[in-house]
Amino acid sequence: MKVQHDGFDEVLVAPTEKNLAETLESAVKVANARCRTGLVDLRSATTSDIWRRMTDHSEGFWQRISGSPRDKENQSGLAVAWWSDRIGRRHVRVRGVRWYFGSDSAARNNILAPFTESRPPVWLIYPDYIYLAGEGEDQKILAACPCGMTGTLDAIGWMGDRCAACHDRSEEGQELADRTRVAPWTIEGTSVVAVTFSPDGALLAACTLSSGPHVRDLATGETRGWKTEGRLESAADLAFLPDGGLVWSQGRDVRILDPHTFEQRGGFQAESGVYRFALSPDGSLLALQGRDLNVWNLRTGETRFPVSRYSVPPLPCCFVFTPDSKGLAVGMWDGTIRWWETAQGTPGATWTLPVTVERHQQELAISPDGRYLASLDTGPTDNLRLWDILAGKILRAWTLNRSVTRSAMRLMAFAPDGRTLVVGLPGGVFGFCDVVAGGDPVYLVSAPKPGVHTLAFSPDGDWLAVGCDRALVKLWPWRALLTAAAK
Ligand SMILES: [Zn+2]
Repeated sequence: MKVQHDGFDEVLVAPTEKNLAETLESAVKVANARCRTGLVDLRSATTSDIWRRMTDHSEGFWQRISGSPRDKENQSGLAVAWWSDRIGRRHVRVRGVRWYFGSDSAARNNILAPFTESRPPVWLIYPDYIYLAGEGEDQKILAACPCGMTGTLDAIGWMGDRCAACHDRSEEGQELADRTRVAPWTIEGTSVVAVTFSPDGALLAACTLSSGPHVRDLATGETRGWKTEGRLESAADLAFLPDGGLVWSQGRDVRILDPHTFEQRGGFQAESGVYRFALSPDGSLLALQGRDLNVWNLRTGETRFPVSRYSVPPLPCCFVFTPDSKGLAVGMWDGTIRWWETAQGTPGATWTLPVTVERHQQELAISPDGRYLASLDTGPTDNLRLWDILAGKILRAWTLNRSVTRSAMRLMAFAPDGRTLVVGLPGGVFGFCDVVAGGDPVYLVSAPKPGVHTLAFSPDGDWLAVGCDRALVKLWPWRALLTAAAK
């Protein structure tokens, strides 16, 4: 039985009515634990009603959220979703959840997946492997099997948590592909604010605001976490150095850690809490945004040059080094993009947007070959722009849904192929733009936790790591998903 930290969560395959009744009882116990009011009341009539619905319909969804709790008390809920695979077996997911007073209502409105709109049951039952591609009527449900097979449910004969070929192999007693890589990874703490791959692609590190760095060996799935000493401040960021050291900022402290032992190799203290940083690709410079934005020499722990002062507008919002580490681009609150030469520490060009509507820069990314800069701003139209860095000219613009702007870091990145740009959008949706061919972005969204805060590509470009709400990190086989979405 799998009991998650946030409630009861179990998938049954081809259960009997008795199995289902027992599972529902356990789910209700977990959901009601430590609640005095706002309890879920499960009657045997309800259980047989759910069983009858499951028999009548090959897929469906049932949910009950308990009655009103007293002020500042917990509330519980129960949800059941089912779906039938190609050999007619019912797959049933049962969740029982207790919410804390004041926790987010979107999650409460849909216990299985925190979306307000209804989702197909297969999405609800095996969220780790299911993606939605496209929009509106053209929307497709895609499944990604850990063996690498990706496509629509029919095309790959989706069996719930594996493709038809893998199912057949397991029926014959053969070993299956390693499943640790595609299954989401939950670390301690709250929202994941930074994810980063080691230069050799062997390790994935992530951190939240309330926990130190956690490092996962992608070959073995083995995970190690920083042992928190005392309270952490609500500002943190993470990056790997070219030599494999891990840079972690926590409050004012900038530490260089060994990613295997967390032994400290170096570090320094900034003059104020560091909200986010950018590491130059050669590993020598660190642009730190705290109260001010300064560029530091990582080896000596001294300020190399100041970029902007808190007291002098416009404020910087986002920043990125060029691949050769010679330039730093800074996206400003007034919508401009300003350049600095890192060798001299002097300001260079200022790029201005050709718009009159007020907008702020929110995220910048530079292609690995140093040709393109992408800028994402808060404007209602043409809010994603592709610039030719040498010419300082806008090549293309896209209008993306920016209706909800969350505070997030690194919601945009170029894939190592240099032509795919991914942008994190509201509701956990990702837009993938081909910067060479142009055209409309391809949209993909993944269950189960839609609040995305940060993303990073693996060095070989095979995986997109996505850091989400509730300390969840998920690896997307994004290329196979894009290919399947295009079919
Ligand atoms: Zn498979």
